[in-house]
Amino acid sequence: MENVDILTIAAHPDDIELTCAGTLIKMVDKGYSVGILDLTQGEMGTRGTPEIRAAEAEAACKAIGAKWRERLNFGDSRLTASIENRFALAEKIREARPRTVVLPYWEARHPDHYTAATLGYEACYAAGLKQLPVGGQPHRPKKIIYASMYWEVKPSFFVDVTAQWERKLAAINCFNSQFSGDLRDITELYPAWGKLLDRIATQCKYFGHLMGVEYAEPFVVKESMAVDDIVDLPVASV
Ligand SMILES: [Zn+2]
Repeated sequence: MENVDILTIAAHPDDIELTCAGTLIKMVDKGYSVGILDLTQGEMGTRGTPEIRAAEAEAACKAIGAKWRERLNFGDSRLTASIENRFALAEKIREARPRTVVLPYWEARHPDHYTAATLGYEACYAAGLKQLPVGGQPHRPKKIIYASMYWEVKPSFFVDVTAQWERKLAAINCFNSQFSGDLRDITELYPAWGKLLDRIATQCKYFGHLMGVEYAEPFVVKESMAVDDIVDLPVASV
């Protein structure tokens, strides 16, 4: 596993495409390297088999321009923030040595999503402990940002992804098993993929308009942000 500037950790293949792929593509455009860790294989997904989703995840990785993607097998829909998982993930973080980690927001409808946030944070902390009984040199990422697309929360900041929008859609569309299959399973419980895409596009457009651009992705951070220049701050107040 090669070192990367940015490491994304999420529960299922397709989570990061929906929540933050535009931002990842933008960072690749800037010359940063990106690594993608999926904590589960997505085997409980309503549509598509794990094998199909693996091929789709690889295609999406290429579409984003990430350096690599690895899928762990912590168990779809039974993800826990256990000590074993924390240590295993901490070892991966030591290998990748990211400066910034992107996690899902810590409140969510799907238990795997909020569990991934907790597990990811705890693993980032553990990775820096010298005495941790795992391989690799201690490393702690400087920054953790939480992709908050799935939850109704006021974002700490937005990233303008207008120039990356078409490529974000292309990355999402790599998961085309989500489009096909038996349409009878499209019920209120399992909403159609098209509806989900529509929702993501509407949200990105709304967040974009809040900052005066076409499309933006939302993020939350726990700590306060610092600025150097109060004259050149983005986003108009009045
Ligand atoms: Zn998910």
